[in-house]
Amino acid sequence: MIIKLDKNISTVQKEQILLTLHGHGFYLQENGQSSIIRITGKNNVLPKEKIENLPGVEVVIDSDRSYHLVTREYRPENTIIELDGVSIGGAEPQVIAGPCAVESEEQILRTARLVQSAGVKIMRGGAFKPRTSPYSFTGLEEKGLQLLSQARRETGLLIITEVLDTADVELVAEYSDILQIGSRNMQNYKLLKAAGRQQRPVMLKRGMSATLEEFLGSAEYIISQGNDKIILCERGIRTFVEYTRNTLDLNIVPVIKKISHLPIIVDPSHGTGRRDIIEPMSLAALAAGADGIMVEVHPDPPASWSDPDQALYPEQFLQLMEKINQFIEWRKNAAIKSNP
Ligand code: PEP
Ligand code: MN
Repeated sequence: MIIKLDKNISTVQKEQILLTLHGHGFYLQENGQSSIIRITGKNNVLPKEKIENLPGVEVVIDSDRSYHLVTREYRPENTIIELDGVSIGGAEPQVIAGPCAVESEEQILRTARLVQSAGVKIMRGGAFKPRTSPYSFTGLEEKGLQLLSQARRETGLLIITEVLDTADVELVAEYSDILQIGSRNMQNYKLLKAAGRQQRPVMLKRGMSATLEEFLGSAEYIISQGNDKIILCERGIRTFVEYTRNTLDLNIVPVIKKISHLPIIVDPSHGTGRRDIIEPMSLAALAAGADGIMVEVHPDPPASWSDPDQALYPEQFLQLMEKINQFIEWRKNAAIKSNP
């Protein structure tokens, strides 16, 4: 069972609840500072209804699943994340764009001006890069974060960047607006919990072979610590195909929308690994109901220090934005017609 405590619970009330549960033989698994208590065990003397009546308890959920707080059973309406006038999960899809990695002041500022001129509100760019080889470029680290901040100051763009390690959560949160947890870390539970204990929204990328259960279970780790500002991200899974880097699993978009109240965006850059098919897959993602897309763009893709084959050329990116805007207009009109 999961017990969700009232936001304004007093310390005395909380202590009383813990004592009562413990006294009735429940095994308590408390999540530190969080407002969630997970218990195992059942008895007739203190059934679910009685626990619900204890002062300071908001709700008791009788669930054996690995997730509950992320579901529509728990919260039927969509979670909309509002950030400085930009909303994620609302009526308008968001485009997140930027380079794979921050490489230099010139590169990040040129990209920032480009994406901003096309109407983008959120820029991506890795300062801590998870790379297959330790000899590859692994990011400018704090210097990269400072360059992202500079781009933010000069353009007003919001910044999303990856946090690789629990020890860097505070640092990355200081410089950015949204924390990204990458595929390779989707099941790094300590990192998920640390991200759940801070205030910034978190974009959680699907692990490269994660099931739906595992993906939502990981999101549950974040939300169980009190942070419900979570954006899910489908970024392709490993399959037997060899003509793309990954297989973009767009099936998951409408399925997640049914089960979960959290926004989901799609990353066709890592999902395909090929810039020539990013446009159709971006439009397909939006048609499937995604709350946005995240794409990689670089002023000079062949010179990109990471993921050069999937970075869009500036002209390609501007064309993509035009197509997306047409699509959004078309969708708005279609919604008006079907809802006169
Ligand atoms: C990224 O978006 O920078 C990234 C490394 O992607 P992923 O974690 O999906 O591989
Ligand atoms: Mn990349």
